[in-house]
Amino acid sequence: MNAEAKPQRSATAPTVTRTTCAYCGVGCGVLVSRDADGTIAVKGDPDHPANYGRLCSKGTALAETLGMDDRLLTPQIHGQPADWDTALTTVAQAFQNTIRTHGPNSVAFYVSGQLLTEDYYVANKLMKGFIGSANIDTNSRLCMASSVAGHRRAFGTDTVPGQYEDLESADLIVLTGSNLAWCHPVLFQRIVAAKAENPNMKVVVIDPRRTASCDLADLHLPIASGGDAALFNGLLAQIDRRNAADPNFLKHVNGADAAIAAAHESDLGLTGLSDDQLNAFYDMWIGTQKVVTVYSQGINQSSSGADKVNAILNCHLVTGRIGTPGCGPFSVTGQPNAMGGREVGGLANMLACHLDIENPDHRDAVQASWDAPAMPDAPGLKAVDMFRAVADGTIKAIWIIHTNPVVTMPEADKVRDALANCDFVAVTDITAQTDTAKLADVVLPAAAWGEKSGTVTNSDRTISRQRAMLPTPGQCRADWKILADVASKMGWGQQFGWTCEAEIFAEYARLSGVAGALGSDFDISDLSDLTPEGYDGLAPFVWPRNARKSGGRFFGDGKFHTPDGKARMLPITPRAPESRKSPKYPYRLNTGRVRDQWHTMTRTAKAPRLNQHLAEPYLEIHPQDAKDLGIKPAQLVQITSPHGRVILRALLADTVQRGDVFAPMHWTGQTASLARVDTLVAANPDPVSGQPESKASTVALAPFQPAWFGYAVCADTQMPAPDCTYWTRLRSANGWRMELAGEDMPNDWEAYARALFGLPDAQIAKVTDTARGTSRIAFHHDGRLLAALFVGPQPVAISRGHISSRVGQDQPVRVLAGRAGADQPDPGATVCACLNVGVNQIRSAIETGAALSVAALGTALGAGTSCGSCRPELAILLKKFAKEEVSA
Ligand code: SF4
Repeated sequence: MNAEAKPQRSATAPTVTRTTCAYCGVGCGVLVSRDADGTIAVKGDPDHPANYGRLCSKGTALAETLGMDDRLLTPQIHGQPADWDTALTTVAQAFQNTIRTHGPNSVAFYVSGQLLTEDYYVANKLMKGFIGSANIDTNSRLCMASSVAGHRRAFGTDTVPGQYEDLESADLIVLTGSNLAWCHPVLFQRIVAAKAENPNMKVVVIDPRRTASCDLADLHLPIASGGDAALFNGLLAQIDRRNAADPNFLKHVNGADAAIAAAHESDLGLTGLSDDQLNAFYDMWIGTQKVVTVYSQGINQSSSGADKVNAILNCHLVTGRIGTPGCGPFSVTGQPNAMGGREVGGLANMLACHLDIENPDHRDAVQASWDAPAMPDAPGLKAVDMFRAVADGTIKAIWIIHTNPVVTMPEADKVRDALANCDFVAVTDITAQTDTAKLADVVLPAAAWGEKSGTVTNSDRTISRQRAMLPTPGQCRADWKILADVASKMGWGQQFGWTCEAEIFAEYARLSGVAGALGSDFDISDLSDLTPEGYDGLAPFVWPRNARKSGGRFFGDGKFHTPDGKARMLPITPRAPESRKSPKYPYRLNTGRVRDQWHTMTRTAKAPRLNQHLAEPYLEIHPQDAKDLGIKPAQLVQITSPHGRVILRALLADTVQRGDVFAPMHWTGQTASLARVDTLVAANPDPVSGQPESKASTVALAPFQPAWFGYAVCADTQMPAPDCTYWTRLRSANGWRMELAGEDMPNDWEAYARALFGLPDAQIAKVTDTARGTSRIAFHHDGRLLAALFVGPQPVAISRGHISSRVGQDQPVRVLAGRAGADQPDPGATVCACLNVGVNQIRSAIETGAALSVAALGTALGAGTSCGSCRPELAILLKKFAKEEVSA
């Protein structure tokens, strides 16, 4: 699939740049071509080993996210433009003064898996080696810290044993706590293709929800929230009962007896599964030699996440199903460079190159390599504790880089209040329009994807280059350069004096050689002498890369990175989620992602087609629970927890179990009035990994009945926040689309609409139905629609996608009908974002008999033929509309 965008930047000579996608941990290679007129096109890199040319809907739309409309182009101090020297001096002095008065542990960096490895390396070097504190943590703490902890406990180091091709050569794939179809779509499509080739391959999905990934499942286990450790302990006990352990591999493993004894004690009732379901899973797992267990945030984001990881690893270790083709546990990471951050020591409890902060030999080696004046001898504050320390005043200066904790941290309102009261907050980002940047004293403008250069590591240890293909706009700078400039202002210019990313990478590679000599698995010292030219041309490679080992799998040889070289099985006692249901908070809230958005939408929401699949934040609730609560389809629901309150649109679906609800985590204070779902989430971190339990909070639900509902579209690019209780807004192809609801009925809808759109004098057309209490208002100029508002006492039933597509295009009177005219085909809500195929087109093809299978829909409409992420939805629509046709 190939996607083009209008010219974004000034014209230059045509180029093709080989780089990597900005989003998830699959780490797909992309080819970005730039025509002489500046038009940019993105397609999958056929030679990249992560994707072999495939891209998902997000990757396909990368070219549409390069717009400059909300970019920050100059440094800001207290909201006012400043020059770089003043801004850098302000940051350096704030940190120096704080350290001088309160010590090095009174400052902190909170960084991100969006950083490139070179950026991460510089941030970590500055905080640990020069400031002398380990108070640097990353938003990867919220993503996969439990996997890190589990790996280190079992293997002695944070090592992903396998490779992506294991997902294709396995005979059983277990997806647990992973909606791979939506969150890592290219990996999912690789499995889809492999399963089509190998009729013996089976797929098991373990998830409390019936997700899109279940479309491929031979078995779906709708596990109770938090039941994973009990499930895998049950598997370990069955392996023991059936004498299915591998005695040869157990020679390389310690702790098997204690782990098995604990497994036999486990209460399988915690899984919420029947004996038949459990036995079906155990028969498949034990009866198949080549098993890969893929796990992700559903395992990691738990108050017992590390134990869940070790319960999985125990099963692979006891059977020796690790480190050989088609075998192994497989943690897939959420962010594009979460792995790079782990390798470079971006977590508060790690040193660079997988060295241990608690180990004096490791500390000495890193300090000597860096020629550093200091080195902390204990871990720093992990994310939850870091923001608690900001709240209680222990941390007085914090630098937040490329992440939005006011939206994404648990108990997010407390994080917002903590930052609002912090003595000094610096933020680096590509935009100042984030909930976090709005609280900063200093905002520093960074280069964005396409403008910056470095390396990233994906989930299977492949290190790839990310290359710049666009000029850096305004005064924006690379992140490593901003960090090095601040270090220089603090007096360490010599140790931070690189002139390009290649020099940082070579220093990092040399340090990895020191680490390798101390026994670290992360050793890429073959690249220690890499020149800038060599760095420019560096092809994707799998670490390690040194004189002893180059690429490949780990642990199939039974050699681990523990002091005695043996793996460790751990006795695991399963624990229920920390938040317990109560009469006051009787529902369990699961949070996660939607298919076409990324994190807090600062980039993906710039691509209108990515906003059309799920255009509004929602609460997925079981129809029977909704009925019991008096919640009707599309009604608004108020969700409260001890920590916050949100209002979301009800989406009734039996994909969630009774007593459970699900809400996406993408919406912010910039895109909705009350949809920051992490305000609800309790900050219950795993005591081992520090990762908070983002998938098992307890909440109360109630219908929210406003006095009026509305839908609005407009062409303005700078919409102020609407004046009403509930609003959401996203970009459409021609401007904005908004959902509205208010508790107070305006006296004059025309006046309200003029204020909403900032159109005091525009020409107006309106239709009012006094009996029904509805009003439809359109503003126009020269017969073209500028904005429109539809309001009524119930959710307004109109063709939303069609109306948003008419802004700037159509006669206002036609738009006021609320539906497409006979001469205006309305594709409906987007299902296939890659090919822009809407639900109405799909329905028509099914109902007319033109396409009665997913493959036929692909042939007829193109739907599902690019990234394939929408194929599960196509299958559901086929069942739905074919059934309706029969019943009609
Ligand atoms: Fe990007 Fe999609 Fe590939 Fe993830 S799967 S790296 S989001 S193209």
